[in-house]
Amino acid sequence: VTWLLDLDGVVWRGVKPIDGSASAIAMLQSAGQQIGFVTNNSTAVFDQMAKLAAMGIEAAPDDLVNGPDALATQLTSGWTVLCVSVNGIRGPLEAKGINVVMVDDVRGSTPPRVDAVAVAIRPENDMRALNLAIRAVLQCGRLFAPSADPLYPVDDGFDIGGGSLTHAVAYATGVEPVFTGKPFLPMTETVKARFDQIEYVVGDQTKSDGGLAKDLAVPFILVQSGVTAPNGRMDRADVPVAHEFPDLATAVKALL
Ligand SMILES: [Mg+2]
Repeated sequence: VTWLLDLDGVVWRGVKPIDGSASAIAMLQSAGQQIGFVTNNSTAVFDQMAKLAAMGIEAAPDDLVNGPDALATQLTSGWTVLCVSVNGIRGPLEAKGINVVMVDDVRGSTPPRVDAVAVAIRPENDMRALNLAIRAVLQCGRLFAPSADPLYPVDDGFDIGGGSLTHAVAYATGVEPVFTGKPFLPMTETVKARFDQIEYVVGDQTKSDGGLAKDLAVPFILVQSGVTAPNGRMDRADVPVAHEFPDLATAVKALL
């Protein structure tokens, strides 16, 4: 069977591993469980693999589904898409036949003519990037985002989440965003196509991770090692929490 694990707030916070997660994953693997990593993050799979490996976690690229994987399913081949994101968004979109324009490659304050805009978090998000996104959305009328998460857990607290950034662009333009990551259908379908016999979804956000579990009809394990702010967790009272634990290590000890 497969345990689906969120990355941010379950395996790590920013660059810091969460205590016990690597050994808990090793315990699951040696008990014969498959591990699937499901993240709304747009960091390239290759870089996520390197980060997992550096923490002593064994994983293959096919074990990970990320934000751009689900996003790509909603874009039309041949489109030009302005991406306010880390570079990892490129691979899955280009594989779909999308012409990717990264916001950092745009000179001046006028965006090129595009068919859609994709907004995700990147460390250097700034007003210029958001203003270019807004101008492009006003022109093309299409806004997509891999993550609807309000908050992004980092080493020393929280940063703004992809969902909050996207809502800023949506509010400014009046264009309804299409969210593609957890807990929305494109990610649910991408996960179903990739993983078999899912036993649990483990995550730190009721809204996104719990929503995915609900749509997959599997039990949701909420961990307290990531987002603990009310806005990150309490937005969906309709999502059942099967178990709540301080972290992944405790969950695995109790449930394996
Ligand atoms: Mg998380």
